[in-house]
Amino acid sequence: MRTVYDLIILGSGAGGSTLAYALRQSGMKILVVERGDFLPKEPQNWDTQAVFGQRRYRTTEVWRNADSGRRIHPTEYYFVGGKTKLFGAAFLRLRQRDFETLEHCEGISPEWPVMYQELEPYYARAEQLYRVHGTAGADPTGPSRSAPYPYPALPHGEYIQQLAVRLREQGLQPFPIPLGLDYRDGGRCLYCKTCDGYPCQVDAKSDAETCCLRPALESGNVDVLVNAFARRLLVGPDGRIEGVEVEQDGTTQTLRAGQFVVACGAIPSAALLLRSKCASHPQGLANSSGLVGANLMFHNCTGMVGIHFTRRNTAEFQKTLTLTDYYFSGPDWPYPLGTIQFLGFYPLQHGGMPGLGRWLNSRSIQFFSMSEDLPDPQNRVLSDDSGQIRLRYRPNNLRTHRRLVGLATRHFRRAGFSLVLSRIVPQPQQAGTHVCGTARFGHDPRTSVLDPYCRTHDVPNLFVVDASFFPSSGAVNPALTIVAQALRVGDHIAQGLSQKSVER
Ligand SMILES: Cc1cc2nc3c(=O)[nH]c(=O)nc-3n(C[C@H](O)[C@H](O)[C@H](O)COP(=O)(O)OP(=O)(O)OC[C@H]3O[C@@H](n4cnc5c(N)ncnc54)[C@H](O)[C@@H]3O)c2cc1C
Ligand code: SF4
Repeated sequence: MRTVYDLIILGSGAGGSTLAYALRQSGMKILVVERGDFLPKEPQNWDTQAVFGQRRYRTTEVWRNADSGRRIHPTEYYFVGGKTKLFGAAFLRLRQRDFETLEHCEGISPEWPVMYQELEPYYARAEQLYRVHGTAGADPTGPSRSAPYPYPALPHGEYIQQLAVRLREQGLQPFPIPLGLDYRDGGRCLYCKTCDGYPCQVDAKSDAETCCLRPALESGNVDVLVNAFARRLLVGPDGRIEGVEVEQDGTTQTLRAGQFVVACGAIPSAALLLRSKCASHPQGLANSSGLVGANLMFHNCTGMVGIHFTRRNTAEFQKTLTLTDYYFSGPDWPYPLGTIQFLGFYPLQHGGMPGLGRWLNSRSIQFFSMSEDLPDPQNRVLSDDSGQIRLRYRPNNLRTHRRLVGLATRHFRRAGFSLVLSRIVPQPQQAGTHVCGTARFGHDPRTSVLDPYCRTHDVPNLFVVDASFFPSSGAVNPALTIVAQALRVGDHIAQGLSQKSVER
């Protein structure tokens, strides 16, 4: 490890690792500081009891509900690669209209400072980088594309294929979920049951470590410091960040660089900025707008299980289908509803009757309904002086969400599932999976924290490059948009460097 760096990136998840990759040949010396370690390859990676029963990879950190004081056990995975180590690898683009003002039943989803066309080339690069398999033109509400997917869609098992037919018979247009797995010719993917929500034991999942951080490290221009927790950013007399206090093995050191990027994930990033308050930033760093931590969004998600008493689910890999027919409206409903997406295998808990549990698991399909929650400045991350994270969050846009769940239930019943069970993911208690919005980007420093290239309005050498920048959550999984924006920010930083060298 060097002692002097040009750029320090805090956090190695979707945003941080992608940015390190984008800048690996820029001429800068870059350090990635990650609070977790490399996720070990071990038999428990694919052990359902270890992953879901014992929550082996989830943090044991406790946050608090700011209103009720209740404990929150966040869905955070503090490893190199961040949440992408366990994610479902669904890589969907936001729709063109998601970038515009969109009227919902309970409010407005605001306009973004960049339009879809600006991000489109970066979506295409992101799909290459994360090896996405899909079918161009199959998504009925999908945006326009400059290129086909890099790899063909993954095949449906016979069971899923038949289910697609039964959904199509109802007038729906199910299509293959764009997925990032190494299913290329000669690829490593085994197409196993233990993917969505599990780490991949054979590095075939397109996570941020595999696709970005490792190649960045191989370039020789990027180092990583693991088990290193970024406690506070320090502001110098010139108003720029001059260092970051990092705790590692019980000691604290200050690391210095010319530029800093916060990429700790939407909630930890906001918490880091808030606990870095100082005399010149008394409300928290880069928080002259008062919006650091505000507009916290999670997506309204309901986990669903369809049980077919006579048909056995024979699919090994079942997360291959999704529906966006109701993205912008539905029957007798002029407002956006959201997405219905198949999940990987999440076993039903069987309590004291394991035989019954096994039987039900073999006859069920898991999926979820996902709708947009709207940005509300009252929904926010708070951080007290002890550094403990507190969340204030009141769900919104639930009328729409219930309607989508009702439609999903009806379609799966008609497809032969006599029993359809559903349970909304309670927020803020489950904080984490698709979290975004806590440092929105925009043109106006009074109404946004970041500029359109994710640089903070208040501090010239500080960027935030993770899920925090979203002004609205849309109703597709966020990772591809985080990655695309990180690539865009990377280009912007690199262009700034080359301009400076021309001026010299
Ligand atoms: C089970 C699960 C399934 C998912 N499935 C999908 C999916 O199919 N498709 C999709 O698009 N999205 C999915 N997501 C969401 C997706 O993984 C996240 O949106 C994405 O990883 C967020 O990227 P990020 O850079 O904001 O944060 P992260 O990826 O979480 O990265 C943040 C990193 O910062 C580190 N860090 C935190 N605090 C500090 C600190 N103080 N100092 C140093 N390091 C720190 C963390 O350890 C972590 O490595 C899923 C998430 C989960 C949990
Ligand atoms: S399906 Fe492929 S990518 Fe997913 S865990 Fe199995 S081998 Fe890894």
